[in-house]
Amino acid sequence: MEDFEKIWSKIKSRLQINLETDIYNEHFSNISNIFKVVNNYVYLIAPNSFVKNKIESFYLNRLNVLLNEYTKEKHMFKIITKDQAAEELAKSETYAINTPEKDLEDKYKTGLNNSYTFENLVVGTSNRLAYTSAMKVADQPGVFANPLYIFGDVGLGKTHLMQCVGNYILENEINKKVLYVKTDQFIEDYGRAAQHKSYDGFSKKYDKIDVLLVDDIQFLSGKNQTQLEFFKIFEKLKENNKQIVITSDRQASELYDIMSRLTSRFEWGLTVDINKPNLEHRILILKKKLQAETQDPDLISDDILEYIASVFDNNVRELEGALKRVLFYCTAFDYKFTVANTEEALKSLVNSKHAANHKVDRNNYTNILDIVSNYYNITPTELLSKNRKKKFVFPRQIAMYIFKDIYDLTYKKIGQIFNDRDHSTVIYSIEQISNDIQTDKDKKNDVEKLLIKCGKK
Ligand code: ADP
Ligand code: MG
Repeated sequence: MEDFEKIWSKIKSRLQINLETDIYNEHFSNISNIFKVVNNYVYLIAPNSFVKNKIESFYLNRLNVLLNEYTKEKHMFKIITKDQAAEELAKSETYAINTPEKDLEDKYKTGLNNSYTFENLVVGTSNRLAYTSAMKVADQPGVFANPLYIFGDVGLGKTHLMQCVGNYILENEINKKVLYVKTDQFIEDYGRAAQHKSYDGFSKKYDKIDVLLVDDIQFLSGKNQTQLEFFKIFEKLKENNKQIVITSDRQASELYDIMSRLTSRFEWGLTVDINKPNLEHRILILKKKLQAETQDPDLISDDILEYIASVFDNNVRELEGALKRVLFYCTAFDYKFTVANTEEALKSLVNSKHAANHKVDRNNYTNILDIVSNYYNITPTELLSKNRKKKFVFPRQIAMYIFKDIYDLTYKKIGQIFNDRDHSTVIYSIEQISNDIQTDKDKKNDVEKLLIKCGKK
């Protein structure tokens, strides 16, 4: 972790060298310690609003550039006045002005990325409702809709939107305790607490939160203990009108293996979905990203952006990646930004886009497991379990067969997905199905149907 006090004193020394003495004295000599560090913002206290405005208008950019020479992650300065700071302290008693706190950053670590703001999110028909709902929630946390449940496919801006809510709330009330947590991380944290039977740290972390943002809740599937714990936290926050925002890859009613008293609560507030952006929307997103990446917004012409947007139509993350690649390719080799060069730059991505459909990530796993278990009326947990009942064994073997057929995963890897089974078990299962489908027409039919459902081309 960076020592921001030290960094600030280095920056001050540099300012002192580079600025005229009067200017330095007037603006910076009276700013001593860091007030706090929250959400990648480093708070400085200006003696009055005159100095604050001066710094903001003339020096903030320069300060931020200097700051980022010393930090690993991107940070920005935020200037507040002494009065604002005092007001805050009266509310919180957490800090005394000018008392350097050792683990400032940890104390206020919110998990938020401060570039995920409403301003940076491009609105179109696919996300308008989600966007306006999130705005209202951010405006009236705990009041407008609680929880806010956002769902949609991967790479469409769920995480971005949920973090907008947190950033916006913090922006307006720097004292609010906002926590962003990925469900994976929540499960891990709880697991660790359970292992050591020390729940104190864990519950403390969640006790005093004002806004809880939980990302990718579908991963709670099958984690019964963690679900119970989450249920308790949820109830408590909700009871105290603390805002909760949840994202997921599917509707609450379609979540598998999560206790219904939890999923039904997800529907108590407001559910909104995010869909794929259309071509115009994608072009606007590219323009926005381009603005963020370069000083010159005309660097890349509209027909190039249109080309990129027409090829990458699935997922905003990919779209963004494609743009960055074009920027890199043409800048690094000093090529002109033309459609031909863009095509060249993206050739390998376009080719691997087909392969990318075959890329197995956790979502694909879950997908296959969901489809197969659903087909046989069992749960994904039963599918993965070591239960030897025939009812489970056969679907399990088929699921393994599908992983091999569609993704050509190694036997070892498939074994790992299925609760760390030995690779010989996997080989046996797959052979079993290969034999079955040669002799049994119904089974063959089933397997073929499932393969298509699971995305075989
Ligand atoms: P998800 O959580 O749904 O998988 P993310 O929120 O991680 O998606 O979004 C992936 C990337 O795409 C992020 O860099 C995000 O900023 C960007 N993005 C998604 N939707 C938009 C949008 N409407 N406008 C601008 N950027 C977007
Ligand atoms: Mg996400």
